[in-house]
Amino acid sequence: WDCKFKTNSPTLSLSLFNKTDRFINNEFVKGVEGKTFETINPHNEKPIVAVHEGTEQDVDIAVKVARDALSGEWKTTTPSERGRLLTRLADFLERDIDTLAAIEALDNGKGFTMAKGDVNASAGCLRYYGGWADKIYGQTIDTDANSLTYTRHEPVGVCGQIIPWNFPLLMFAWKIGPALATGNTIVMKTAEQTPLSALYVAKLIKEAGFPPGVVNVISGFGRTAGAAIAAHMDIDKVAFTGSTLVGRQIMKSAADSNLKKVTLELGGKSPNIILPDANLEEAIEWVNLGIFFNHGQCCCAGSRILVHEAIYDEFLELFKKRAEQNKVGDPFHAETFQGPQVSQIQYDRIMSYIEDGKGAGAKVVTGGDRHGSEGYYIQPTIFADVHGDMKIVKEEIFGPVCTVQKVHSEEEAIQVANATNYGKSPRILRFQLFDVQSLTSTLITGLAAAVHTTNINTAIRVSNAVKAGTVWVNNYNTLHYQMPFGGFKESGLGRELGSYALENYTEVKTVRVHLSKA
Ligand code: ADP
Repeated sequence: WDCKFKTNSPTLSLSLFNKTDRFINNEFVKGVEGKTFETINPHNEKPIVAVHEGTEQDVDIAVKVARDALSGEWKTTTPSERGRLLTRLADFLERDIDTLAAIEALDNGKGFTMAKGDVNASAGCLRYYGGWADKIYGQTIDTDANSLTYTRHEPVGVCGQIIPWNFPLLMFAWKIGPALATGNTIVMKTAEQTPLSALYVAKLIKEAGFPPGVVNVISGFGRTAGAAIAAHMDIDKVAFTGSTLVGRQIMKSAADSNLKKVTLELGGKSPNIILPDANLEEAIEWVNLGIFFNHGQCCCAGSRILVHEAIYDEFLELFKKRAEQNKVGDPFHAETFQGPQVSQIQYDRIMSYIEDGKGAGAKVVTGGDRHGSEGYYIQPTIFADVHGDMKIVKEEIFGPVCTVQKVHSEEEAIQVANATNYGKSPRILRFQLFDVQSLTSTLITGLAAAVHTTNINTAIRVSNAVKAGTVWVNNYNTLHYQMPFGGFKESGLGRELGSYALENYTEVKTVRVHLSKA
């Protein structure tokens, strides 16, 4: 691996990727069917490299290997040693931060500086779970004098993990951290848009000394490899991050196959409430970060901005000014805040929402168009004068596009924040594989929310009232591996991160011993 930086632009040798698709049993090997697919650089729309595609048969092989690994060396690896392996892996991520950040910026389009933040957060997450590995134990339960009852927290087994493209490395770390700390083995499917950073980490997993078969990585597509994981009869648990629509499919497949355990981290249309007593200058910074961070490609993006009428005009003026300062451009330019969207499909989808907003009569405060002429760049876009029936207010856009709605009171802000009862699931156009009309259920999201106020009573009142898995008070998008993250309602099932994530990866066994009389 070569990684030289010239004027902040990397020269990477991608030769490893030419030879690899799947990382199974600590070896890089070709896919069974011998197919490849290209991963595209969203900055210039050109292929970076072709990776081998893993399909159903590769999933089968990986599951067998992961099953065997459960009863091999991994079984006798002590909890403390598991912790040491995780912390060593974290060290390697930090050691190779420039390479990893460059891969991520190239493959996903996020700014190199932002990608470095992702590497650090991923290392932090792995180290955090490394710390947990030898602190996971059950209870002794005193029922009566003739019994000894205790619980054991055992690994669930073989865990299928399916991750998205918006934070390829970070999602990888969020998933493997708690699963490995608790002694499971993994079959991971990365997103087809961004397979590269996980392949590099696979190399580090081997270098760190994890036994063969503990972590297996498959580059492949959702409909083939992803679906095979969800439906597999010998996978004990599936963890998924992605769209609500696919989350539903996964849950159905889990139910139709072996009732594997399911955790889901899904979409949202998160409200960001600005009340009249907010520190407006600070609130604007958080609102800007809330929607435009990672080019709006965050499940928890603060895309519905609800502003009290008393400050609405002033807010719009300041927010417009702030959004226009966001530097959009080449991920490898040091000052870049916003790079390209991840793919042509995403670009088209976001632009179609923008056109829809314009057509529906929403006012474009700023943006509303493509940025430049090459790459999947979109201007930071703010819509105002919107109402609740508009598609841009109702559906998750997953891009640098937000709506600003006027509210007249705290009560109305809460009511609008919680009114995410939409006619159809958002993020559907992303696939164009499913029959939209056939979805009769309504999407009710609740991933995140924020309130900006300087009154502690208001802050607590509003945070108690909004239905969301995370509520930020006077900040936004500040995730931390110590804090649980996940959704209310149709935004998910279970929690990732923090000690809460460990529960997803252990089975509780109760042992009751009858004591014989002396
Ligand atoms: P996004 O819109 O963020 O791409 P998806 O839900 O389509 O969200 O994708 C997230 C992950 O789920 C990706 O790894 C993708 O390949 C995978 N995926 C997509 N469709 C399916 C499916 N039917 N079964 C299992 N995994 C899938």
